[in-house]
Amino acid sequence: MRIVSGGVQHETNTFSKTLTTLADFVRDSNCGELLAGGETIFDRFRGTGSIHGGYISGAEASNFELVPLLCARAQPSGLVEAKCFDRMLSWFLERLNREKPFDGVLLDLHGAMVSEQYEDAEGAFIAAVREAVGVEIPIVVTLDLHANITARMAELADVIIGFDTYPHVDMQERGHEAAELIAKIVRREVDPVQEFRQLPLITLPPKQCTLRDPMQELMARVHEMELEPDVVTATVAMGFPFADICDTGVSILVTTNGDAELAREKADELAGCLWELRDELQPELTTIEDVIAHVNDHCDAGLVIFADGSDNPGGGAPCDGTIALHAMINAGFEGGAVGVIFDSETAAQAHRAGVGATIPVRLGGKTDDLHGTPIERDAYVRALSDGRYTYRGPMMQGVQDNLGLTATLVVGGVTVVVSSQRRQCFDAEMLRIAGVEPTGLRLLVLKSAVHFRADFGPIASRIFDADTPGIHRPDLSAFDFHHVRRPIYPLDSQTVWRG
Ligand SMILES: [Zn+2]
Repeated sequence: MRIVSGGVQHETNTFSKTLTTLADFVRDSNCGELLAGGETIFDRFRGTGSIHGGYISGAEASNFELVPLLCARAQPSGLVEAKCFDRMLSWFLERLNREKPFDGVLLDLHGAMVSEQYEDAEGAFIAAVREAVGVEIPIVVTLDLHANITARMAELADVIIGFDTYPHVDMQERGHEAAELIAKIVRREVDPVQEFRQLPLITLPPKQCTLRDPMQELMARVHEMELEPDVVTATVAMGFPFADICDTGVSILVTTNGDAELAREKADELAGCLWELRDELQPELTTIEDVIAHVNDHCDAGLVIFADGSDNPGGGAPCDGTIALHAMINAGFEGGAVGVIFDSETAAQAHRAGVGATIPVRLGGKTDDLHGTPIERDAYVRALSDGRYTYRGPMMQGVQDNLGLTATLVVGGVTVVVSSQRRQCFDAEMLRIAGVEPTGLRLLVLKSAVHFRADFGPIASRIFDADTPGIHRPDLSAFDFHHVRRPIYPLDSQTVWRG
């Protein structure tokens, strides 16, 4: 049995003005290495906490040959340029046609990609693959928990399997599950029947977290359901709210073994559960001033984290926001750090000056005027790094990544890790390679909404979801939506849903 695999991964924040180009995919796919497919994918992902890590282990467990075609990914940002999308799709299709015959297709997609020409870019991608392989070849798709799944995607794929976790610590498991399932479909041991439900509901990152209730409890129900006879897999996709497209929001998929009635019943049950939770899923936000006061009132509390999700690069934000840093400097706060601020200009300046130098910086706030103004003052260069690291925490464990030239500065008494690549700080290793030990801090500002909880959660005494402005702010009243279907909760408070 031969199964081809791959895809294009992008989470598109339509409120970002930064167009995503082929150069971004080349840079973020390990300098283009992953665009080549083939052996590179095995070398890079075997044994790691990644989707392809799971495809590889699943292929070994199910005894089939995996043929990776393309593994393109770019950091979340604005719309994907039309010609970039077309180019990557045509690469994938050329290789797909070259590898024929094969028995199935595993697609590694995100589910919230928007290109200049397609609101539902994954729908367009799966449609092109379906057209190329015909109706007989099974297509199993893995998607992020933040997928805005459309009816078109669900129709075109035999099965869609979404992550069950946020932080996304089950990528390898879901990839493995997809690989084992496609082998069973090819061997005719499973006859998948998939049912899709879309809810008139948008939810926001802080409460989409599956380490907290109500999501923790809901996912326990999903896992129970997956153990029931003839239920093959169930997905609750919470959606990516910062994409102003028709299909933004929450959806459900249940796949059974040949039982359409059961699939409908179970999909309705999960959709009903989620709808009941709609008010509990709305986050509570705290200002940096209130958090500074809290830390000062609880001197021996240990590490407090200010989750600055509004500037989360993992959802397309600039990662150079300065609101919290300004406030900490103004308050004369000591024992605080910010990780990671993306500012390649300042990182390079620090590398030129060297460790121990004091340099006049203009730090952060450069991408746009929505995330605070640059910090203009002297900074002490405490440490320098080449920015290379391996994820050690539960998410993407074993995957190598790169912050680019990185500088650890002390600015107005606050330690700031400054990178040359835009990365979400969700693994303590990203600070440790810069000489910052998080357990020794009183207050840590992280440019992350939820993912940081996997690695930093166990060492934090308290976590606050930030009340800061930005294009990833978990507060829908901060955005003008023009394209999302209406009515939808909570934009329309009177929204009703009857299943
Ligand atoms: Zn996600």
